[in-house]
Amino acid sequence: MTAAMKKTQIVVIGGGAGGLELATRLGAHCGRKRFDVILVEKNHTHVWKPLLHEVAAGALDANLDEVGYRSHGHRWGYRFFYGALETIDRAARQIVIAPILDETGREIMGRHRIRYDYLVLAVGSITNDFGTPGVKQHCLFLDSRLEADRFRTKLLDQCLRVSRSMTQTPGLDAHVRIAVVGGGATGVELAAELYNAAAALRHYGLEVFDESRLQVTLIEAGPRILPALPEDLAAAAQAELEALGARVMTGMAVVEATRDGLQTADGEFIAADLMVWAAGVKAPDFLKETGLETGRGNQLVVRPTLQTTRDERIFAIGDCALFIPTAGARPVPPRAQAAHQMASCAFGNIKRLIAGRPLKPFVYRDHGSLVSLSRYSTVGSLMGGLVGGRLAVEGRLARLVYASLYRMHLFAIHGFVKGAAMVVYSWINRIIRPRLKLH
Ligand SMILES: Cc1cc2nc3c(=O)[nH]c(=O)nc-3n(C[C@H](O)[C@H](O)[C@H](O)COP(=O)(O)OP(=O)(O)OC[C@H]3O[C@@H](n4cnc5c(N)ncnc54)[C@H](O)[C@@H]3O)c2cc1C
Repeated sequence: MTAAMKKTQIVVIGGGAGGLELATRLGAHCGRKRFDVILVEKNHTHVWKPLLHEVAAGALDANLDEVGYRSHGHRWGYRFFYGALETIDRAARQIVIAPILDETGREIMGRHRIRYDYLVLAVGSITNDFGTPGVKQHCLFLDSRLEADRFRTKLLDQCLRVSRSMTQTPGLDAHVRIAVVGGGATGVELAAELYNAAAALRHYGLEVFDESRLQVTLIEAGPRILPALPEDLAAAAQAELEALGARVMTGMAVVEATRDGLQTADGEFIAADLMVWAAGVKAPDFLKETGLETGRGNQLVVRPTLQTTRDERIFAIGDCALFIPTAGARPVPPRAQAAHQMASCAFGNIKRLIAGRPLKPFVYRDHGSLVSLSRYSTVGSLMGGLVGGRLAVEGRLARLVYASLYRMHLFAIHGFVKGAAMVVYSWINRIIRPRLKLH
């Protein structure tokens, strides 16, 4: 048996909002002599998921904000393994990583196994199309950096097409028609960000193009948008979107997506050049095959300690974990702040488990919910003792608090000094770089 084999091996799967913070803390605190902390992730770089709508609209250049796992792991004391978890062999305490292929489909590395003493699943969530016909084929999603980049390319191509046709045919009333399904935070934030992008395009060579050329339709099946926010704030957000030119349709279920648009339950056809599906999330399907207990939406059911119910060596955190604080209560929502808090709790509990001490229960602290309408507005509500319950916020204060969630993530993964430098760096970048990423 080699020295490496004797180390206690802690494996974290998924380097997102929760997993990267956890791997960083474990790597920094556990020490390399007795422990081997491994992060397995299917991408080479990390982009904080709540920024993806900005990447999609071109408002943020992800190349500037991404974190390379390999160098980050070197700095913080964990090892990075590139690859996607396929399944878990719990009897052998090994995970199985799918074959790694290059761009042409040629195998770089075959299917292989990694042993673990403790395993943390932090694989996040993916968009749920609820089995709606045509959605997979015709809609775009915002689940990953790749998909956000794909959306931006298609958006710019479409803007160019419209601009060109208007230049060739003066007086032509052409539009870029975008349908966004889902009136939750993701859909609302994307809709607002698109108007910001369209307004900027005329400064970048598309002289005849501006926000009036954009037709965004936001479609929500529920009675109102932003169900997580108080009614007056959701109404304010809707009014802001409508003032920008968006059409907001509530109580409208989409039953099919086709190449040319969306069919609604009450017979309306919404013609669209681009369709984005942001109507709910579920955990990845493969979790159902792990033998661990899963709930609705494939999430792994966890105990109060964040250990999975059927295996105390396996923890689940973030969007892929189903944690119900008390019987009959609502599950902890799939949010970055929940992933951040779960990463902290799992860090403490893994150390306690190894030391043979009693584990502590996870307590979710809802600090509120904020929705950014690009540069136009930010609305939301803050929760907690400091504000005496629930406080509705808008404008600059809301914008400041919204930005602080990302800052907390930067501090968690870079430490205080580099985290602060990153905050300054991205602030300077926002001033000096072009308003839009056009490639
Ligand atoms: C556009 C958008 C805006 C949002 N805005 C907000 C917001 O304002 N506030 C808020 O609180 N939340 C927001 N969210 C939700 C938030 O992003 C998630 O709740 C949060 O990222 C969950 O963290 P996580 O660690 O569970 O998963 P993620 O951050 O999604 O990370 C999961 C990681 O696992 C990796 N992975 C997946 N499968 C595998 C596999 N099989 N093998 C290896 N690696 C794998 C993925 O590549 C990814 O890196 C937003 C989400 C989106 C899409």
